Amino acid sequence: MSILSLPSLPAIPRGTKESKLSTLFPSSSLPTADCPLPTIPSSLFPQHSALSTQHFLSQHSKIYIAGHRGMVGSAIVRLLEAKGYTNILVRTREELDLTSQIDVHRFLTEEKPDYIFLAAAKVGGIHANNTFRADFIYENLIVETNIIHGAWLAGVKCLLFLGSSCIYPRDCPQPIREEYLLSGPLEQTNEPYAIAKIAGLKLCESYNRQYGTNYVSVMPTNLYGPNDNYCLLGSHVLPALIRKTHEAKLRGDKQLTVWGTGTPRREFLYVDDMAEACIFLMENGVHEGLFNVGTGSDVTIRELAETVMAVVSFNGYLSFDTSHPDGTPRKLLDVSRLKALGWEAHTGLHEGITRAYKDFLQNTAD
Ligand code: NDP
Repeated sequence: MSILSLPSLPAIPRGTKESKLSTLFPSSSLPTADCPLPTIPSSLFPQHSALSTQHFLSQHSKIYIAGHRGMVGSAIVRLLEAKGYTNILVRTREELDLTSQIDVHRFLTEEKPDYIFLAAAKVGGIHANNTFRADFIYENLIVETNIIHGAWLAGVKCLLFLGSSCIYPRDCPQPIREEYLLSGPLEQTNEPYAIAKIAGLKLCESYNRQYGTNYVSVMPTNLYGPNDNYCLLGSHVLPALIRKTHEAKLRGDKQLTVWGTGTPRREFLYVDDMAEACIFLMENGVHEGLFNVGTGSDVTIRELAETVMAVVSFNGYLSFDTSHPDGTPRKLLDVSRLKALGWEAHTGLHEGITRAYKDFLQNTAD
């Protein structure tokens, strides 16, 4: 289903008044004269200013995608092009190193994009996050600081920042609601990365509050799809599983061994759906707040491995090495805030993994 066939937003047309928003957001989250401060921090809720009456992505908008060669950035570019957007601005790392403040500020001031999708980041799985802790916090902090401050200096109207679901406390209730941010300790293995991502969304929130910018943050669950990282040491669980299963098949192995018990539950979103959600928010004038993006449903690691084995046509046995830890038993995002605006994921796990494996065979496998 294309975004064009998604339900329109009859409840939030241009010029929607705050009173109408009570149909979209719980009344407890909207300030009133009697109760000026909601019990949940108001900054976490997209209140009236989140639904801008002025800034809607249009076909001629000048749109800069930071990180356009990455998995998410390339999916955003693909979808923008498919939807007929013509004024897309990109720079490779060789052309513009986003860790250089002076270069980023000069680029943004000269180009003056109308919109920015901030999909550039240092990204990796548990091993990479835990090993290169300094690189993960430093590079992510500096890239997002350079772009968000530079966007404000250049008068950029709207920006969408990609965070991550690892910003939420390790032991928070499931499914995870946006309000759980900063309510408990983070997972230790990727704490530096998570702290940088929390700083990014706080930058957006703070510039909005102080300077009236329109900078929105999205928190994706585990993503997969074309242009994923299949390097076993640096990758996330699903691309690593695709690679391991493919290689086991080529070697003619009788069994595939997966770490842990196979019982933890995780959520996976196809990257084209992620791109759709990002563009949906910009096209519909949602320019403030924090939005979880996921499928709203999870699978066990066993079910995930079985789906990958079916897609790859690996006919051996699946076994589990229980000497390795499982990690948290469940990690699922509550996606009701985005759903209330009219967007839902639609690519099923089997279909998404089939597309991802096709891309892996074309571009990564030896
Ligand atoms: P990728 O690693 O695929 O892409 C990141 C992009 O950022 C790459 O194109 C990379 O350039 C670019 N980049 C990084 N540092 C610099 C720099 N100093 N200068 C210029 N370019 C730079 O990441 P994803 O697409 O997977 O992730 C995109 C966003 O989504 C990130 O913010 C990530 O935290 C978030 N996210 C991702 C999830 C996932 O499962 N992948 C899950 C949750 C959130 P180059 O191509 O040259 O390396």
